[in-house]
Amino acid sequence: MADITWELFDKQVAACSRCDLCRGIRHKVPGQGDREAPLMLIGEGPGQTEDEQGLAFVGAAGQLLTRMLAAIGLPREKVYICNVVKCRPPGNRAPTPEEMEACMLHLRMQTYLIRPKVILLLGATAARATLGPDVRITRIRGQWFERKGVWMLPTYHPSALLRDESKKPQAWEDMKRLRAKLEELQLYPAEEEKEQGEERKSL
Ligand code: SF4
Repeated sequence: MADITWELFDKQVAACSRCDLCRGIRHKVPGQGDREAPLMLIGEGPGQTEDEQGLAFVGAAGQLLTRMLAAIGLPREKVYICNVVKCRPPGNRAPTPEEMEACMLHLRMQTYLIRPKVILLLGATAARATLGPDVRITRIRGQWFERKGVWMLPTYHPSALLRDESKKPQAWEDMKRLRAKLEELQLYPAEEEKEQGEERKSL
């Protein structure tokens, strides 16, 4: 892995046709944000807005995610955000296990390059891709998993929160767990937390 670079990653994703998801897309969505960030967020795959813009989490779910991060004092530009698959699954369906496996090459490369200390897993697909194919998000959300020195926290995908508002209190608890871990590891300063109360109301 010594020769892996961001340039190689960008070229590899741009040229990739390892699965059929690349057929009919407008843009690949490799991910974006602070490439030196200690916190990495992994979602499922691009939706329509992301496919149109070539950017991860820029639709309604992405806007909610931005507010969730702000609620724990994290500006979005200070984290790195990507998805398990880099091409939009048709009709926003979940990627198949074969498609996930095909795209894991890119996600592994990203993780190697970023070397995050903490990863927030957004939804079942991200949890399955990293923690194992049989995990259920409803059972494991809110629990910390440590893998090779990296702390991983599964929580609901913001899209699930938009579909089912009753999940928001649990998601907020998970965000507070994330904030506490970042403080424990001394990864981000906590000076922006004073806005938490107001931000939470707007989630
Ligand atoms: S989803 Fe991933 S593996 Fe499939 S074509 Fe797109 S970049 Fe390649």
